[in-house]
Amino acid sequence: MGHPVPIVLVTKDHKFELDEDALESILMQDHVKEHNVVIVSVAGAFRKGKSFLLDFFLRYMKSQGSNDWIGTDDAPLDGFSWRGGSERDTTGILIWSEVFLTDLPNGEKVAVLLMDTQGAFDSESTVRECATVFALSTMLSSVQIYNLSQNIQEDDLQHLQLFTEYGRLALADCGQKPFQKLQFLVRDWSFPYEADYGPDGGHKILERRLEISDRQHPELQSLRRHIKSCFTDISCFLMPHPGLNVATNPRFNGRLGDIESEFKKYLQVLVPGLLAPPNLVVKEISGQKVKAKELLQYFKSYIDIYKGDELPEPKSMLVATAEANNLSAVAEAKEMYSQLMDAVCGGSKPYLSTAHLDSEHLRVKDKSMEQFRSKRKMGGEEFSEKYREKLEQDLEDTYSQFKSHNESKNIFKAARTPAVYFAIAVI
Ligand code: GDP
Ligand code: MG
Repeated sequence: MGHPVPIVLVTKDHKFELDEDALESILMQDHVKEHNVVIVSVAGAFRKGKSFLLDFFLRYMKSQGSNDWIGTDDAPLDGFSWRGGSERDTTGILIWSEVFLTDLPNGEKVAVLLMDTQGAFDSESTVRECATVFALSTMLSSVQIYNLSQNIQEDDLQHLQLFTEYGRLALADCGQKPFQKLQFLVRDWSFPYEADYGPDGGHKILERRLEISDRQHPELQSLRRHIKSCFTDISCFLMPHPGLNVATNPRFNGRLGDIESEFKKYLQVLVPGLLAPPNLVVKEISGQKVKAKELLQYFKSYIDIYKGDELPEPKSMLVATAEANNLSAVAEAKEMYSQLMDAVCGGSKPYLSTAHLDSEHLRVKDKSMEQFRSKRKMGGEEFSEKYREKLEQDLEDTYSQFKSHNESKNIFKAARTPAVYFAIAVI
């Protein structure tokens, strides 16, 4: 059935914590870990229908995009918990336990993950927490849905400030825009005579909000300029109001019959527009596609920079990305080394002479070091040097293990040990 899994939590003393085991249980599943990931996140202020919307995403993914994915009139809506009543939600990031393997039009199978975020603006510290949840989910997703109520306001744009700075550094470092799709989603849009519901009206409003004019403060102008340089694709969608049952009826359980048909009509446009196979966006970091197993490292590195009391500097976000880039390149090179050496002298292979094994080691090591070198990484050569050295050391260590295993297969040497003499004497 699947359930929401809290991945990033905030402790009582307002520190961010990653539940590594929970995350691993999702990302490292055998049928998941080797696939590139698509991560769709929904973020924004609380009580604005994020989880509610995600539950429709779940319906779509579970039905594998069939025409009647939206369900029957009387089925209650479940999945990520929405409403929550008077109970206050805890801050954090949740991932749906079920990973949806989907074929892209080019035949590649990708792992689609759905991410919910929660925050409650009710004091100084929780405002920082919300900003952190927003930042983390933007860095980790390939599609960030920025869920807004009624309109795109100036301070909604200002929440993107941190990224625009980071974006500039990242762009200078590796020439790649750091983030992929940013989807503004305006809920309860109430000016359809001014701009139509859906993507076209959204486009019109977005153009207007991101327009740069001399009358704006220079900071507002540069904010607008830089938002565009951070994301490969920015779009906006205007959603109609779902009706009073959804907004105010305490007994509403999500059944379609109680939702305005206009809202459902635009859900049928919005959801496939984001999740149909041709529209899926594979997660990339510094221009490289990210596999499920690699994503774990990014979570770890990113959470570290949000451990302090302040929001991190864009510079430290860059360092964390560079670190995760390098660590995953190291892991990949090590895996390659082990696999190739296993084919040469693994368990089922016969004993090889030391000279032969040495030369195979050098060949495979060269290949693995080259694999590490050629992987695009942030932070430049100098930053990468210590990871290169570590990799080289690790490969030598692994080689020692292969070598002693190989020695143990040498029956001539084994025959010279006293235990074997004894055995022969008994026979
Ligand atoms: P979240 O905190 O952003 O995840 O919000 P929830 O998904 O828990 O929804 C909070 C409340 O908003 C629920 O009572 C929903 O019925 C209601 N809701 C869901 N979608 C919409 C919408 O598009 N407009 C309005 N006005 N309310 C909505
Ligand atoms: Mg929610």
